[in-house]
Amino acid sequence: MIIKDVDVYPLRLPMKQSFAISGGKVGDPSSGAPHVYVKLTDEAGHVGWGECRPSHRWSYETLESVVSTLRHYIKPLLLGQPAEDVQGLTAQMNRHIAGGQSAGQPIAKAAVDMALHDLIARRRQVPLAGLWLSSGQGAVNLSYLISTASPDEAAAHAMAAKEQGYLGVDVKIGLNPAKDMEILEAVKQHAPGLFFRVDANQAYDLPAAVRTGKALERLGVDVFEQPLAAGNLLGHAELRRKIGVPIALDESVWSPGDTLQAIRLEACDMIVVKVTKMGGLSGAKLCGEIAKASGLGLLGGGLTESRLGLSASAQLFHHLQIRTPVDLNGPFFLADDPVESFPDLQDGAIRLSGRPGTGCDVSMHKIDRYTYA
Ligand SMILES: [Mg+2]
Repeated sequence: MIIKDVDVYPLRLPMKQSFAISGGKVGDPSSGAPHVYVKLTDEAGHVGWGECRPSHRWSYETLESVVSTLRHYIKPLLLGQPAEDVQGLTAQMNRHIAGGQSAGQPIAKAAVDMALHDLIARRRQVPLAGLWLSSGQGAVNLSYLISTASPDEAAAHAMAAKEQGYLGVDVKIGLNPAKDMEILEAVKQHAPGLFFRVDANQAYDLPAAVRTGKALERLGVDVFEQPLAAGNLLGHAELRRKIGVPIALDESVWSPGDTLQAIRLEACDMIVVKVTKMGGLSGAKLCGEIAKASGLGLLGGGLTESRLGLSASAQLFHHLQIRTPVDLNGPFFLADDPVESFPDLQDGAIRLSGRPGTGCDVSMHKIDRYTYA
């Protein structure tokens, strides 16, 4: 299973609505959402597809940097090598694009890792999860994402989440900190009983996070995600001692090393597992297993990947037995993507099909339609 070709497709996918976090807009309908699809072809003509979703508002990787790295540095490295050796290829990618504080350009590498898994699983005629000796069948519950600076809009979204059968909401705060509690109270009032995840995306300093955390505890929030800056593990540990609501780390945890640091410093109760952030399925699986073995909880999330990345992530989250609704919400924002057949997605859940690989078929016609530059 020698890798014969690597195609990299920068895409601007049409959006139904814009998406903002405390750092700013991560997608805008006027320009489309930046996604990168990677197609690996082996010498027998079998293919594997992977995806990543860069956002310069969330990390330093951009659509342009991902494409340039994959085309000019990673592709020459992969050509002629055996696809089955995912661990070896990952080590080579990490040597070739050296890291800063954590692995360099994990989002770009994640698309290759996903495509390698897809290629191997398709050759073996098993779902991705079959590579980890799991069935790859079952349901994964999704959370309903609410990202708005308006309490009235938040209330309308909360009602929609309940009506559509979602079991959890994921509310972004810090867009307008003065309105945060009003927004959260509106959500709680209109969607009581749903798993209530609140994500600040690093918006607070420690005193503000303590104040907000105490209010979240009174409101009955289930988890307070990434209140402080990514590098501030000691601040999160101190916050954890001062408030009763569980703390999850997302932007702080990109690698197995980050996961171990968070555990040693007792900086969180949970970590957020994300395939693209953690350099692909291999890295995300290892982070999840380390956290789980240490007694931490796991949350699942994504970077608004399309249905290709969503399907790969859902298989990993099912394998890791993540029970809380996961934040895989690309289709929430995208009007279309290049996937033409996909596991069943409705009523706030994805039902894994057990089909080979990611379970997705990619349309070259749509790849051509949405290719950017
Ligand atoms: Mg998050």
